[in-house]
Amino acid sequence: MQPRDLSANSPYVPGRGSEEVARELGMDPADLVKLSSNENPHGPSPAAVAAIRETASDVDVYPTTAHADLTEKLADEWDLEPEQVWLSPGADGALDYLSRAMLDPGDRVLCPTPGFSYYPMTARYHHGTVAEYDLSKADDFAQTAEVVLEAYDGERIVYLTTPHNPAGTEFAREEITTLAESVEDHTLLVVDEAYGEYSERPSSIDLLAEYDNVAVTRTFSKAFGLAGLRVGWAAVPESWADAYARVNTPFATNEVACRAALAALDDDDHVEQTVETARWAREFIRAELDAPTWESAGNFVLAEVGDAEAVAEASQRAGVIVRDCSSFGLPQCIRISCGTRAETRYAVETLNEVLADLDAATLTETDDESAETESESGVVSE
Ligand SMILES: *Cc1c(COP(=O)(O)O)cnc(C)c1O
Repeated sequence: MQPRDLSANSPYVPGRGSEEVARELGMDPADLVKLSSNENPHGPSPAAVAAIRETASDVDVYPTTAHADLTEKLADEWDLEPEQVWLSPGADGALDYLSRAMLDPGDRVLCPTPGFSYYPMTARYHHGTVAEYDLSKADDFAQTAEVVLEAYDGERIVYLTTPHNPAGTEFAREEITTLAESVEDHTLLVVDEAYGEYSERPSSIDLLAEYDNVAVTRTFSKAFGLAGLRVGWAAVPESWADAYARVNTPFATNEVACRAALAALDDDDHVEQTVETARWAREFIRAELDAPTWESAGNFVLAEVGDAEAVAEASQRAGVIVRDCSSFGLPQCIRISCGTRAETRYAVETLNEVLADLDAATLTETDDESAETESESGVVSE
């Protein structure tokens, strides 16, 4: 027996984990600094940890109340009706629910490239096809309505990531409203705000009051430090919010995740500290790393290092795991997540050593090569 033809579906490539790398290199995971998945270096909120412990003995029941409580709390905070809050297992789960609600077989979606690989994946899982709009490195990955509309051809879903992963760039609000007004009636704009907490710009969630073709996804995985629990959500316009009941997997978010998220939402200090550290770290990386970088509104910085695979590997052997961006279509770039101040300093120092070593090695190689060519051809240079 075989599954259906999955040849167009590519597996998700996550940032590498400490355990995994430690096993491979025979190191202690505690000696590794993991800055490859944009996680929260301060860990989860202590209040969330307490909620997780307390919930442990209640996991024999379905999460009816917890699910309703979290939905209501988010609705309250963002001035939405509870139906407009689609809880999900991670924001990735919300992207799936939007695909289920929107895509008929063969429908096309428009994704940014470079970009987050789950957009094309969810589209293909739901029998959709994929087109791309290019964010140009030469233009510093600028995100504008024009760039999207140049590629737009009536797709059913258009994904916008702001702040963008891995580039760190943002869409200005006017660019998003221009898009909402320019696309055809059947097109949904999905504004992915996975890194929204780190940005100084306002969320697009309030646009839902005005536009029925905009949905916004948010997550507890990044600033809230709950990536391991898989909890996220989408905010959708009221006019079609009832579709959730027809597409969601029952009890989309589990009891422990709901209780932890509720506690995390009450811990403003934790999020504030997280955002402050990230803002410090991204400035520090940009100022101190011996490589060109891009301005970032997220909790990470994209850097151009030449051979990203070689740099990521050497840095990993030296104890710092960063993200090789080859899988994003940027084989010259690495993405460095913001760590604590100590981790970030250590990472930059390590990367600078790696870059200097690789530079020296490349220079020697080039010398050897030219020496060989000279002797082979018998040409003597002066
Ligand atoms: C991390 C991330 C997400 C969501 O991750 P979940 O853990 O599924 O909530 C969504 N979009 C982008 C661009 C991300 O980087």
